[in-house]
Amino acid sequence: RAKVVKGNSLQIYDAELNRIVVDKIELESEARLALENDNFYLALQPLIDIKNNHVIGFEALLRWRHPVKGLISPDEFIPVLEKSSFMIQLDYYVIERSMKVIKALDNMGYTEQFLAINLSASQFLDPKLCGFIKRMLVHYGVDPQRVEFELTETTLASDIKVATKIMKDIRELGVQLSIDDFGTGYSSLNYLRSMPVNKIKIDRTFIMGITENPADRQIVKSTIDMVHNMNMQIVAEGIEQVEQLATLRDMGCDIAQGFYISKPIPEHQLASMLDKIILNNIWIHEFKLSRE
Ligand code: C2E
Ligand code: MG
Ligand code: MG
Ligand code: MG
Repeated sequence: RAKVVKGNSLQIYDAELNRIVVDKIELESEARLALENDNFYLALQPLIDIKNNHVIGFEALLRWRHPVKGLISPDEFIPVLEKSSFMIQLDYYVIERSMKVIKALDNMGYTEQFLAINLSASQFLDPKLCGFIKRMLVHYGVDPQRVEFELTETTLASDIKVATKIMKDIRELGVQLSIDDFGTGYSSLNYLRSMPVNKIKIDRTFIMGITENPADRQIVKSTIDMVHNMNMQIVAEGIEQVEQLATLRDMGCDIAQGFYISKPIPEHQLASMLDKIILNNIWIHEFKLSRE
């Protein structure tokens, strides 16, 4: 009897595992198709200089418009695709598409702003990455200073020496580097100091509590001071309330990003939306975007 029960539970387990594998393969083949059918696009979220509300850049966020499932969030498909060879292909597509976005921003008069691009771990470790970035910059005639790459602590944690070498190679192209979701992963402050990084983006989870939770406020304040001591800039992400923005301004934070300032704006709405929320490169409070 016990054997049967064991057998059954094993079978159930197998079925479950099988379903996950099938889902993964399905998602991967759907993603390949979506790329062919141009169903991926970027949404851009403005970043402002907290001192004067100037829009200094945008973050490119990948969007998948699925014909049946609708809009799929990157948090749903990126972790699954990360384990497949297709992710690198998609990552390279994002870089090229980002170059076109910079050109589009140029045409709209946003000629100074940078565009921040998220790099996945596998792409970061891909030996072809540096050469590809260089070719794209040259091909699209984009000033490297206007391009920033975001890396997470987890991406950098694998082998710190190797990671630092890759970061140096990328920086030599003239582009900027930032550490995303700071505070959520493993991070050695000692190594951070020797990393060729321009900005630290403190994770949204710490920003959420800064107006009510003294512990969060202390963490954010200490992080800001530490980052400044390393001569880097600090970005606060996930700002949803005016009080959070005010608190961060008082603490000396440099750059702000979040729904309170603007939700990510889909590429095809750039022209109509940006002019409504940005005037003379200054983010206009009253017109803050409330939909994506
Ligand atoms: P991330 O790089 O940390 O991007 C910030 C995420 O926070 C975005 O979610 C953005 O829409 C969201 N966000 C911004 N402001 C607020 C706010 O005030 N409140 C809340 N609740 N959320 C806010 P999104 O676009 O869903 O992206 C999720 C993650 O997927 C990104 O986190 C990034 O890790 C990854 N991702 C997105 N696009 C790409 C891409 O092109 N390549 C790679 N490798 N990863 C990407
Ligand atoms: Mg990011
Ligand atoms: Mg982030
Ligand atoms: Mg994140």
